[in-house]
Amino acid sequence: MSKGKFGYFDPKKPQAGRITDIGPNYFGQMLPPVIRRNYGKWASHRILEPGLLVHVSETGEKAFTVRAAAPRLMSVEHIREICDIADKHCNGYLRFTTRNNIEFILEDEAKAKALKKELDSRKHVGGSFKFPTGGTGMGMSNIVHTQGWVHCHTPATDASGPVKATADVLFDEFKNMRLPAKLRIALACCLNMCGAVHCSDIALLGYHRKPPAIDDDAIGKACEIPLVVAACPLYAIKPVTTADGKKSVTVNQEKCMYCGNCYTMCMGLPLADREGDGIAILVGGKISNRISMPKFSKVIIPWLPNNMPRWPEVTSVVKHIVEVWAKDANKYERIGDWAQRIGWEKFFEKTGVPFTEKSLDDYRLAVDTFRTSTQFKFTDHAWAVSKAVGGI
Ligand code: SF4
Ligand code: SF4
Repeated sequence: MSKGKFGYFDPKKPQAGRITDIGPNYFGQMLPPVIRRNYGKWASHRILEPGLLVHVSETGEKAFTVRAAAPRLMSVEHIREICDIADKHCNGYLRFTTRNNIEFILEDEAKAKALKKELDSRKHVGGSFKFPTGGTGMGMSNIVHTQGWVHCHTPATDASGPVKATADVLFDEFKNMRLPAKLRIALACCLNMCGAVHCSDIALLGYHRKPPAIDDDAIGKACEIPLVVAACPLYAIKPVTTADGKKSVTVNQEKCMYCGNCYTMCMGLPLADREGDGIAILVGGKISNRISMPKFSKVIIPWLPNNMPRWPEVTSVVKHIVEVWAKDANKYERIGDWAQRIGWEKFFEKTGVPFTEKSLDDYRLAVDTFRTSTQFKFTDHAWAVSKAVGGI
């Protein structure tokens, strides 16, 4: 029990120092002093070099931010090392961005550059960067992801594994700012989408393709069958009594959409499957208002295999899309803006990704997404797109 803040509990004086309204501390207490002093007064900001930003206040004060990548799932030792670096260089102040970049905030440019140098010099035992700086401006930010096989119970793919493999093939885009616009990549390991998959430029989404297996023994011993039945959003589960008298369930495979809700309720309905599970790729999402309104990501590849440990099918597609976009897009065009300007049929043509009836949106919304204007030329690829969706 902490004695620093409230003192030890004294059973003879139970009311002494008693507090009843315990919540999170006021966030302002945790802001670096330069941020606290200039709260609401920031006039401008610039990126001095990849991984180093400066914010200038109306008062003339400046805050220098050094940004480095983080692995999202961290060991205690790794977090302690981050804290030690912050203690050494910036009085212990640091923050994490929504994409899990680590940001150290300083008041002095020379000190910020020294910190950046030190971060880039720290390596893992295998020689890879521990805290590579970058992720700013017209480049790739840290890849945000979910728990994966390390922790969660419903993943259709790993999180850290494919993200590391993807980050490796795009590492130069994290260190440089040479793309047409920001590049945000995300991974969620199942359709629950704990990651920012619905609104990222490129999203990797774990996808099950098989209904749950049924373990009668485990269901009978460990599960509340009415809860399992109620958990299914498609009413695909029914209670049954097996031939040998066990209480269990059946799953209507035609109805099942492989969401994994039933497994959340009952360990007797495991969904993970080496052949069935894989990754869908979505592109074009964003939350910025620049050029066009915020957009949801759209499915362009419904499934790729979980080819551990480096997911080559996934990383090669992601890299290729980034290369085609970087070459073809106008300045400031995010991938979704670019695809919208050239037309989604051209997106598939230029990237060489096959268009199928499973591409883009779900079936009800697809008509809104397809170009319904007569203002484009029917190339061979556009005819193929038309045929794939059941047109002429
Ligand atoms: Fe678990 Fe799905 Fe979230 Fe991944 S996305 S952590 S599998 S709930
Ligand atoms: Fe129902 Fe989802 Fe379980 Fe399929 S995976 S049976 S849709 S709860």
